[in-house]
Amino acid sequence: MRPWSLPRTNRLRFALHGGQRLSPTEALHILQEGNRRFVNNLKANRDLLQQVNATRNGQYPFAIILSCIDSRTSVELIFDQGLGDVFSARVAGNVINDDILGCMEFACKLAGSRLIVVLGHSHCGAVKGACADVQLEHLTGLLEKIKPAVDHVHSEAPELDGDALVQRVAEHNVRLTVARIMEKSRILKKMLDNGEIGIAGGMYDIESGQVKFYPGAGI
Ligand SMILES: [Zn+2]
Repeated sequence: MRPWSLPRTNRLRFALHGGQRLSPTEALHILQEGNRRFVNNLKANRDLLQQVNATRNGQYPFAIILSCIDSRTSVELIFDQGLGDVFSARVAGNVINDDILGCMEFACKLAGSRLIVVLGHSHCGAVKGACADVQLEHLTGLLEKIKPAVDHVHSEAPELDGDALVQRVAEHNVRLTVARIMEKSRILKKMLDNGEIGIAGGMYDIESGQVKFYPGAGI
């Protein structure tokens, strides 16, 4: 018996999409459209107080997005989503650990989310810290998780430094994180192989507000 009696499908999205369960590709398109509205300074016409009411008995978010804690990268804002639409997991440098993986497994296996997104961003302070080998109590261990991306870029493009190095590391860190999620979670890998979920990496440009998605898996 499952620990939570949550439905496996997204009831709110059922209503919005003619009763059809969203595919991972459709979930990605919703985020792409939302970012397009954000960049064009448009907003979906939603009443947040009404959404409080609509979601009081449960939540059926269609995606889980792992992003950085950076104050400029709030996913509900940059994808123009409302209450109950997406799970938001945030940690500096958008790295994973067992707790984040547990959140993703909960979102996809128990709450019916169809898409995992790992979202990096430009000018990321955590990536800069990892490149500069910053040491600071608990932060040291967090930045260690970004070091494999730093090492990879150093060996692939030793000429890079400054902003160019930081950006390349941020991009590779997203790709490595996507790969690690599939490596480390048997549940998520199986759901991906069965076409139940998709996974995508993306990069948010803090200067333009645009998100660029990388070719993902299962979408
Ligand atoms: Zn950051």
